Amino acid sequence: MTVQEHLSRFEAVAKDPAGQLKGHLAQGRKVVLTAPVYTPEEIIYAMGLVPMGAWGGDMELRRSKEYFPAFLCSIVQSIVELGMAGAYEGASAIVIPSLCDSLKVLGQNWKYAVPSIPFIPMTWPQNRTPDYARDFILAGYERLIRDLEAATGAVFEEERLEEAIRVYNDHDRAMRELAKVLAAHPEVSAAQRSAVFKSAWFMDKAEHTAWVTELLAALREAVVGPKKLPVVTTGVLADAPGITALLDEYGFTVAADDVAAESRQYRTDTPEGGAPLERLARKFQAMDCCSVLYDPQKRQVEHIVRLAKDSGAKAVVMLLTKFCDPEEFDAPLIKKACDAAGLPMVQIEVDRQMVNYGQARTMLETLRDTLTA
Ligand code: SF4
Repeated sequence: MTVQEHLSRFEAVAKDPAGQLKGHLAQGRKVVLTAPVYTPEEIIYAMGLVPMGAWGGDMELRRSKEYFPAFLCSIVQSIVELGMAGAYEGASAIVIPSLCDSLKVLGQNWKYAVPSIPFIPMTWPQNRTPDYARDFILAGYERLIRDLEAATGAVFEEERLEEAIRVYNDHDRAMRELAKVLAAHPEVSAAQRSAVFKSAWFMDKAEHTAWVTELLAALREAVVGPKKLPVVTTGVLADAPGITALLDEYGFTVAADDVAAESRQYRTDTPEGGAPLERLARKFQAMDCCSVLYDPQKRQVEHIVRLAKDSGAKAVVMLLTKFCDPEEFDAPLIKKACDAAGLPMVQIEVDRQMVNYGQARTMLETLRDTLTA
């Protein structure tokens, strides 16, 4: 298969989460939806269930407004909109973590808006690094397991979690490698890169790792395309077709990303040593450099600048999800750090209801002109 044929497979999955859901159900597998961010999928996978990411979709929000004020982030609103429209029917449960205020509201409203799919909370501690936080995380996992068993009838066995951790660590490594290799292949468009990352949310992770490994092998044999303008993307989501199309139109290539739905997921492996659940708790404790994770030192800011320098990026494109408080608080700090490092940065506001990309076009066109002047 050629690189383009490999990429087409990922694009087909990314465009059709409903088809993937149907496919899993047709195989007799039970599906558990995982809302952003950092739901411990390994536990779900270990129980023989298929975790499927629920990050909403690009659409007009109508019925979700019965439950949310207009100024709540559109990711959360579109998850409920899809739930109310029946898009997730067949799923056995949804796990919603508690990492931001909007997600807390999502969980509570889901119970009434979509009563056919049980809501299971995953309560993370904000202050996650001390030893006592590990006990809190473990208690959260134990309750999550009990709720999953009740909702699905599946049984949790700790030995199977070892295997699930291995599958997820392998996937993390493959995705990190892929991000590096794609940076050297500007002929892979921003839209195609986005599809590879997005498809991971809908597939069995072992299968996705196998596909990514095949893509990596094909890329190593491929002729590298002409140079483009390398940028780092940051934000919660970067999958809006209107945005990726503009990145491609103005000749940008994603040299690296700091996107919550993309590489932030794959930075931290579950460490070795100890009981599997405890290892998984240590994984969450080790996560860092993300606006949604409490960090008074704001290490994410320096991380973005470092990522840009290390990847040879010429600029940072911040895709700021409208009404996302955690990202909005950090945006001025990121801008200041980029300015200090002599790194141009554009901040493009995005949401799940976007139909007009005029402002994004102007910003990206100006950025292209600045970088090529
Ligand atoms: S985009 Fe921001 S506000 Fe919305 S769920 Fe994610 S972290 Fe919360």
